[in-house]
Amino acid sequence: MDRYKKQRTRMVETQIKARDITDIRVLKVMDTIPRHLFIDEGLIDQAYNDSPLPIDGHQTISQPYIVALMTQALELKGNERILEIGTGSGYQTAVLASLADRVFSIERIASLSANARKIIDKLNFYNVALRVGDGSYGWKDEAPFDAIITTAAAPEIPQYLIEQLAAGGRMVVPVGSRDVQTLYKLTRSLENPQEITREDLGECRFVSLIGESGWKK
Ligand code: SAH
Repeated sequence: MDRYKKQRTRMVETQIKARDITDIRVLKVMDTIPRHLFIDEGLIDQAYNDSPLPIDGHQTISQPYIVALMTQALELKGNERILEIGTGSGYQTAVLASLADRVFSIERIASLSANARKIIDKLNFYNVALRVGDGSYGWKDEAPFDAIITTAAAPEIPQYLIEQLAAGGRMVVPVGSRDVQTLYKLTRSLENPQEITREDLGECRFVSLIGESGWKK
């Protein structure tokens, strides 16, 4: 048991369970993954706070509640292949890897991807593939995916990603301006795969998606 266990359990109880997260598997995993390992040593005391925190390259590790909300929306049972855009610290990646079969995660900043690789390896995840590049294009060779998560804000729903979503698949993506977005959950129908339904999960603030389906800088 690590010395942050108590703080982590309190995070789950007060920030996640106390809000609207009911997926037992999500709650359990967030009570297990050592979030403090994904954060700069200087900020380690804030690792279990109810807020996002800065990571390298002017990016952020998402607020724990947002990680839980997005993960729950993906409705993971354990056998999914997931595409993630925006590896960042790798924390969300580790949560997904604990709940699904395989995770393919793309990050545009090489140093962040390298750092995430180290921690993910240290925690003995063997089901995570990382790639450096513009995640706007998705990961065509590995498509389709049962679940897709974009942890950077897009001006519109990224079309290449939607194309790589399997029949019956779920995608979560923040869409809006650079300052504020709406978190959308998109579901591709299993019976009628051309049909996509959209659900609004509320207001959110993410760093910008930079690339083909995002902002240019
Ligand atoms: N899930 C991460 C969030 C990191 S912030 C975490 O909790 O740590 C979003 C990340 O998306 C940043 O690291 C940013 O560099 C990355 N990003 C932005 N545009 C991207 C793109 N087009 N392709 C891949 N990654 C991108």
